[in-house]
Amino acid sequence: MVDKVEISSEKIRDILIKISDIIIENKNYLTELDAAIGDADHGINMARGFKKVKEKIVDDGSKNNSDLVKTVAMTLISTVGGASGPLYGTAFLNISKVIPDQDFDIDSFINIGEVVIEGIQKLGKAKQGEKTMLDTIIPAVNSLHQSKEKGLSLEKALLECKKVAEEGMKATIPLQATKGRASYLGERSKGHQDPGATSSYLIIKVVVDELISEME
Ligand code: ADP
Ligand code: MG
Repeated sequence: MVDKVEISSEKIRDILIKISDIIIENKNYLTELDAAIGDADHGINMARGFKKVKEKIVDDGSKNNSDLVKTVAMTLISTVGGASGPLYGTAFLNISKVIPDQDFDIDSFINIGEVVIEGIQKLGKAKQGEKTMLDTIIPAVNSLHQSKEKGLSLEKALLECKKVAEEGMKATIPLQATKGRASYLGERSKGHQDPGATSSYLIIKVVVDELISEME
């Protein structure tokens, strides 16, 4: 049973590049989701930010985990725009404050999840159930707590976290948006998957897949 995973700055850089790639690959999909309930720019905003992230981190050989994540945060804050730019930027900035330099256990991921939620809520004031990125993230972090209580291995906990994140994303479909641009639609926001919940799932999916492959 592996209960700890070692993540060097090389691996963090790798994961950050893979996150950038999946967002860039899903630019049109995320934009289509935002066209239904927003202003059709979520994919454009996020892909612009993560393209810049890739440029910034790709050649940087010297940084530690925290500095790399901080670079991502500052880049997202200055390039993404919209509601999601400051929200994701703050989330990554908070991660940079708690990310371990090498050894990650279940508590490391719980800490990261908690500060992500804290940052997004401090800025956006949303709760679970308002059809936002938090509907992916909050259940995912709750699942980590539950997996810890159950004594699951780190691998199982991460896989469960990914599964719950996907369910949270899909569960935004019937919800009515009460925060952000989609809230302007009122009842008509029902029946569509939230774009931010979708980008959050894509990020969690890549992180989990990369960590699992590292543990095998
Ligand atoms: P904008 O809405 O300004 O066009 P984006 O389209 O890039 O920005 O991002 C929209 C996403 O941001 C939504 O799908 C939602 O998940 C997220 N979002 C909006 N407002 C909030 C909020 N107050 N708290 C958390 N997430 C939010
Ligand atoms: Mg938008």
